[in-house]
Amino acid sequence: MAECERCEPRDEPLTLDPHDWDGMRTLGHRMVDELIEFTRTVRERRVWQPMPESAKRAIERDLPLAGVGAEQAYREFAEHVLPYPWGNIHPRFWGWVVGSGSPFGMLSEMATAAMNTNASFGEQSAIYIERQVVEWFRQLFGYPESSSGILMSGGSMANLIGLAVARHTATDGRVKEHGVEALERPLRVYGSSETHSSVVKALQLLGLGGRAFVPVAVRADFAIDVDALRQQIAADRAAGMQPICVVGNAGTVNTGAFDDLSALANLCAEEKLWLHVDGAFGALAVLCPKLRPLVKGMERSDSLAFDLHKWLHVPYDVGGVLVRDAAQHHATFSSDASYLAEVRGGINEGPQAYNQLGPELSRGFRGLKAWMTIREQGFEKLGKLVKQNVDQAAYLAALIERDDALQLVAPVPLNVVCFRYVHADAAEDSLNALNVELLNRLQRSGKALPSHTMIDGRFVLRVAITNHRSRDEDFELLVSEVVKLGRVLVGHETDPT
Ligand SMILES: *Cc1c(COP(=O)(O)O)cnc(C)c1O
Repeated sequence: MAECERCEPRDEPLTLDPHDWDGMRTLGHRMVDELIEFTRTVRERRVWQPMPESAKRAIERDLPLAGVGAEQAYREFAEHVLPYPWGNIHPRFWGWVVGSGSPFGMLSEMATAAMNTNASFGEQSAIYIERQVVEWFRQLFGYPESSSGILMSGGSMANLIGLAVARHTATDGRVKEHGVEALERPLRVYGSSETHSSVVKALQLLGLGGRAFVPVAVRADFAIDVDALRQQIAADRAAGMQPICVVGNAGTVNTGAFDDLSALANLCAEEKLWLHVDGAFGALAVLCPKLRPLVKGMERSDSLAFDLHKWLHVPYDVGGVLVRDAAQHHATFSSDASYLAEVRGGINEGPQAYNQLGPELSRGFRGLKAWMTIREQGFEKLGKLVKQNVDQAAYLAALIERDDALQLVAPVPLNVVCFRYVHADAAEDSLNALNVELLNRLQRSGKALPSHTMIDGRFVLRVAITNHRSRDEDFELLVSEVVKLGRVLVGHETDPT
């Protein structure tokens, strides 16, 4: 090393690369073997179990000033982390709306990490992949070629992007320059009372406040009452508000209901409002010819949010949003920092700068695991899996209706089944508490994992089937377990455990 008056004397140069590359390769092979085996044998384990105190204590370490090496770090993961997952890769996990991932998806995450690129901009393969994945969804969802889109971390962020562009467009960019102070009238956004909470959160983040969201009544099928929506918009205009946007639901989280998206598109055209569709999971109904009528009109929306980590089983996290008006999308998020300005002729000259289409500058390369999963399986098979889940929901609904001790609490238009245990000996006002206890016992048993919701004041078990590992017999087991637990709880049987 050259002498230098201002330099401290230095040891060997440091690096995070291993001294022993072969040792790292061996560990890598072992990890791949063990993690593939973990996935292959998932059905043999319980869906879920609480994390033991010993594991919690084992991961609470003092500030680790010195490292323990890769082998030891992996051993700690294998012993204390891997055995206690949420459970969503298990064939009998049907809580909330979550995907099950896939073995090749897992490997594609490793490929992503190996590249470790910043998928933000530039002449690099990642940008072409991200663009291609967005392009596939543009074609599937019937959006025009001139539209734009971006992959985000999920439906919540995709909703935020759609609503941000709606706000920007409705205010001619004034809010971007001057903030919400520039607004003459309070902005209003409409959606059914079943709309996902991420829409309200987005409006809070956009400075419009949660009250900018106006929930509109639903009909018996949990789809928005379009006449009530029309009246609400008129009333709000008369009261001095500025309606800007309607959120249409393609698959609500509670019951899988679809709003009449064609009617909403007509209304938005008449009223000059932005139509944003939250299709987090339901938008994928386009993949099966039989289900496609449910999303008719979706292609006429101004923006559309969808998830890839739910019903397409791409590993967490990835969702996407399409925006019909590419110029407004760009105008909403563009910034003109000199260090990011495009310079032609070098690495800067990429096909798309994603930092100009969303709030993030550095971005993970989420497109790769999506691209690899879609290339591996093809949309035809992915669509058949969507259909398989919808058929399983119908099968489960039929099992429930056949059993006097079970009550189906909402229609099943798609893949979500809401039901509860009822019994002649159990009074109506005791049923909520009974079903809470039943669900807790079922979850703790590790045999099946529905989540819950409230439907018209009734606590229900909620089975959302976005799971490519579930089979008919898994739903038979669910029904028999619920009935068994219910009988124990009303005192007709003693608890065998
Ligand atoms: C899951 C979901 C969301 C939120 O998506 P995330 O990917 O969890 O951020 C929004 N809307 C609906 C209907 C959903 O099911």
